[in-house]
Order: sequence, then C-alpha cells, then structure tokens
Amino acid sequence: IQFKDYELSEEIVKALDVLKYEKPTEVQSRVIPVALQEEDLIVKSQTGSGKTAAFGIPICELVDWAENKPQALILTPTRELAAQVKDDITNIGRFKRVKAVALFGKQPFAPQKAELTQKTHVVVGTPGRVSDHIERGTIHLNRIKYLVIDEADEMLNMGFIEQVEAIIKKLPKDHVTMLFSATLPEAVKNLCRKYMSSPLDIEI
Ligand code: AMP
Repeated sequence: IQFKDYELSEEIVKALDVLKYEKPTEVQSRVIPVALQEEDLIVKSQTGSGKTAAFGIPICELVDWAENKPQALILTPTRELAAQVKDDITNIGRFKRVKAVALFGKQPFAPQKAELTQKTHVVVGTPGRVSDHIERGTIHLNRIKYLVIDEADEMLNMGFIEQVEAIIKKLPKDHVTMLFSATLPEAVKNLCRKYMSSPLDIEI
C-alpha cells in the first residue's frame, strides 16, 4: 500500500513525496485510514515508529484551511517533542499551507500570544504552557475538533495527567481523540475510559 491509496489530497501526497516517505510505516498503515474516518484511537507504539506522521498526515488532511481558529490540539510531554511535531506538521502540510504553532515553556509568552492571533490550524504544546494560554485567554479552543495526546505514559511520569485532563474539559464535547503511548498504565487507561467514545485499540 502507498500513501496515494488513502483518501489524501494531492497536496499532502506531494509533501510526503518531498519528505521521501515512500510508503507508510506499520503504525501509519494502521492509523491513517481510521483517523481519516474521525474515530477515537488508542495507539500503543514506540517512538521511531513513524507515529508523528501517523497522526500528522490525517490532521493535515482534515483541517479546513479557511478556518482561522485552531482545529487540532496536540499535547506532548516535552518542549523538544513539541518543536519536532510542529516541524513535522509544517512539512506534511506545506503545500496545503497548514499553519502550526508550538507553545512551550522557557520561552517568552508575548511572541506565542502574537502568533495565536494569526490564522492557526494546529497548536502543538506542553500541558503547562497550553494551560497558561488558556488561563490568560490567549488561545481559542472552541473550534478544536482533533485532540492528540502524544506519549501519554510520559505525561503521566512527568506529573502532567491532571493538567491534560483539565485541558480536555475545556474542549468542545464532540472532538475526536487520538492517544499515543508506548505503555498503557492504569491512569492512562482511565483517562481513555473517561474521555473517549468506543475507541479503537491499535497495538504495534
Ligand atoms: P517518529 O516515530 O514520528 O519520531 O518518526 C521517526 C522517523 O521516521 C522520523 O525521522 C520521520 O521523519 C521518519 N518517517 C516517518 N514516517 C516515514 C515514512 N513513511 N517513510 C520514511 N520515513 C518516515
């Protein structure tokens, strides 16, 4: 199977070609068709498996370019991962001109606030800094349709699960959730039970 066999627009397929992604990795082949149907997903997979593109490709495909407010929120445990995911989304969405913003700590607040006043399709951030933006009213969450919780077990290890839960509570009720984790500890499963609707389990 190749990327062009999925229901992806030409702009996305072309970007994958430029990135030299010749064919989907296993996690991508399992996730992309289901994510394009907008189903909740719990994906057990390791880093290095191509999981970023597994959610990045469907998100870039599904966002409506004409909408100005953020439609996808991707939560990551670390600043480095947030920056990496933002770059990957920007690359996958380059020909569709998908605009992604990264929000993480140890960075001044003002430039992030300014970026958020511009057209933004995808927000990638750590739970702490995303919560700060919510508290200060500098981020609009009322158009979020897609939530990704990346490296959920790491979020738990770093003590971020409660913050993640508080963020979920601020999102519109009918959003789609995709959770990625290398392991599925009880607290992560609980989060899934509480906030996802009949999610599909994918184990790589
Ligand atoms: P990740 O697991 O998301 O950190 O991705 C691991 C590495 O695989 C990254 O350097 C990606 O750029 C690369 N990658 C992801 N998907 C593909 C693919 N389909 N073909 C080739 N490389 C890929």
